[in-house]
Amino acid sequence: MHDFLLTDEQLKLREEARDFANWIPKELVLDMDAEKIQFPHEFLKEAGRRNLLGVRCPVKYGGRGLGEVDEGLICHEVASVSHSLGCLWGVGAGLVGDAILNFGSEALKQEILVPILKGDQYAAECLTEPRGGSDFFGATTTAKKDGSDWIINGQKRFIVGAEGADWFLAYALTDPDAPAHKKLTAFMVPRTKGVESKYIYGLMGTRGGGAGRVMFDNVRVPERYVLNGVNDGFEVFIHMMIPERLGAANMAIGCARPAIEIATRYTSKRKAFGTEIMNFQAVGFKVADSVTLYDAAISLVHNTALAIQSKKVHPNRIRRLVSEAKKFATESCWEIVNNCMQVMGGIGYTDVYPIERIIRDIRLSMIWVGTNEIMQMIIQHEWYKEYEKVISKQRTRNPEQDAVGADQADEKVYE
Ligand SMILES: Cc1cc2nc3c(=O)[nH]c(=O)nc-3n(C[C@H](O)[C@H](O)[C@H](O)COP(=O)(O)OP(=O)(O)OC[C@H]3O[C@@H](n4cnc5c(N)ncnc54)[C@H](O)[C@@H]3O)c2cc1C
Repeated sequence: MHDFLLTDEQLKLREEARDFANWIPKELVLDMDAEKIQFPHEFLKEAGRRNLLGVRCPVKYGGRGLGEVDEGLICHEVASVSHSLGCLWGVGAGLVGDAILNFGSEALKQEILVPILKGDQYAAECLTEPRGGSDFFGATTTAKKDGSDWIINGQKRFIVGAEGADWFLAYALTDPDAPAHKKLTAFMVPRTKGVESKYIYGLMGTRGGGAGRVMFDNVRVPERYVLNGVNDGFEVFIHMMIPERLGAANMAIGCARPAIEIATRYTSKRKAFGTEIMNFQAVGFKVADSVTLYDAAISLVHNTALAIQSKKVHPNRIRRLVSEAKKFATESCWEIVNNCMQVMGGIGYTDVYPIERIIRDIRLSMIWVGTNEIMQMIIQHEWYKEYEKVISKQRTRNPEQDAVGADQADEKVYE
């Protein structure tokens, strides 16, 4: 829908991604939804074989040196087939790969990043703990120094791909008494002695990629697996939240697209009271509202991706934009899929069409990678800060003065 914003190379890349999406076997998608599969190794292998994993990474590590917009285009195509596959595609190579690229040594890039981008290995991201996901600083997993190694103890939960992961990017407390942003360290933990993963939840949707429990029981990790230095895990977290939240927005956009197309086709063929139901305003307007929300969501996400890849925008504004994009796109796409189910009547609620799966899948997008309430907090915080420090100082005209009673200073009561 926004082809006019794309370059010829991007249009070609999208075709390549579509070809990959068409390769995805229907049985894989259905078996994942039925939880017959807990980790789709063959999907990642094929993505790696096609050089479609971690495309923002440099060519020398197996990536393509592309940007956020390009990555979004591939994400839309994969997530349009399966939200769950979109997650797996994004988390290991796109997200953890990005952290290794930015915060790992050259040796770690060779040891971990290269096989991940080939699709031979997978890395999960372990942030959330049973006692809380929103409160990052409340982590209780610990890492204690033993000689030149670290010994990690604790639990993480809801970890995508836990069952198939070879590596776990895990945050642990290394200096519990330090200020919040200096007490955590990010580790690349290999699947080794003391690491156990369990597939324990029945999920509403986004199934088959696992959202497992990961237990670390006296896990010995060499110092070289620390990302960005000891006690500096916060920087890794803050960095990762940008591609992570943009990715969640892109996944929602991909996931909602088939629902709009199915509902459009259905309402132009299905008849009631002697006419196609799209002719009823109640139906046609729901589709119109959905397309409007969809275009608006794509625009905001595209704008945010451009802002990130320009490298010219202040990190605080990026934090706000990406939070807006995540919140707006996920809520819009949820509303879109809900509208699409409604205009299809009873058949939309059955498994004759995939809309019932899409609606179960997409509900997650408002909860994970930071709930939408947390997105609101960030937007609020960053906006007020930016307004006071930057925007208000750029204004050369005070809009408050453009009112008849503008001079009534006594009426402008603030306390
Ligand atoms: C299927 C699935 C896959 C997931 N994959 C991963 C993964 O791969 N890796 C990973 O680390 N995590 C993952 N998560 C975890 C997910 O990111 C967390 O569930 C999410 O961040 C919320 O954390 P929580 O569940 O602990 O809820 P809580 O943090 O307990 O929040 C509960 C409610 O309180 C609200 N709340 C909390 N604090 C505030 C506040 N300050 N202001 C306003 N409201 C607040 C929240 O918005 C929410 O509505 C996954 C979750 C699911 C369900």
